[in-house]
Amino acid sequence: MKLAVIYDDVFLKHDLPTHPENALRLKYFMKPIFEAELPIIKPKQVSYELLRAIHSENYITDVITSCRERAPRFFDPDTYYNQFTCDSALMAAGANELGVEILKSGEFDAVFCAVRPPGHHAERDRAMGFCIFNNVAVAAVKALSLDFERVFIVDFDAHHGNGTQSTFYDNPNVFYFSTHQYPFYPGTGSEKENNDHILNVPMGEGSGDREYMEVYSGIFRKTVREFEPEVILVSAGYDLHSDDPLTGLEVSDSGVEFVVSQIVESAKELSVPILFTLEGGYNLRALERCSRISMNVITS
Ligand SMILES: [Zn+2]
Repeated sequence: MKLAVIYDDVFLKHDLPTHPENALRLKYFMKPIFEAELPIIKPKQVSYELLRAIHSENYITDVITSCRERAPRFFDPDTYYNQFTCDSALMAAGANELGVEILKSGEFDAVFCAVRPPGHHAERDRAMGFCIFNNVAVAAVKALSLDFERVFIVDFDAHHGNGTQSTFYDNPNVFYFSTHQYPFYPGTGSEKENNDHILNVPMGEGSGDREYMEVYSGIFRKTVREFEPEVILVSAGYDLHSDDPLTGLEVSDSGVEFVVSQIVESAKELSVPILFTLEGGYNLRALERCSRISMNVITS
């Protein structure tokens, strides 16, 4: 596929070096992208109207005013902010908005938003789990507004995307498919929460390549085919990797390659564009390898 990466150094300014979700993650993730000389596009800030479709006005105002403080502080026990967090978060959401516009234009048929902070835990009125604004939800709402009639979100981050699920729980035009360690943080994502357009596939601790290959070659491919989306969005969290320090899944490099390949094959089979946005992944070396693997699969 013809791939563009959306990235800006502003994503490195939201930082707390002692925290697992720190700026070094994105530096490592970008190495293979710079090496391969992939086209890099600068993001813009998300439009306020679009952000307001996903987050409450009070919460958006709270983020903007909080980030005036200089020393790192916390929205919740996991989620820090500093004086650059607001800029980074508005641009991370804006990268997803721009990414969908680029796909609609047809100039590229694949976009990777290499952004921080991540987004899939962010709820309508609160930050959570290292996430400030829900980036993939921004992409989905933007896609619907540009007449992509059915949007398929696949989330392979090791954690369940509670914020994404709750955003689209009552919207049958958006399918949310998630594999994640369960039971695990954030506690949601059981099969009991499934409906006709929400499909959680909980993975037990220690699940590895065999289990992931079965899910992604089987139920995942079948579900995408049946939903017939006009665009595919991917919450690409690489903390499913066996080297990740925060999680207990055992997916190897080749398992990650298999998962990404199945997603890209689905897009090719349906002739639809695809947008990836970076979520988790906390082992720097594994993150760099997963970036190289993903970019190779997408551009092949
Ligand atoms: Zn995660």
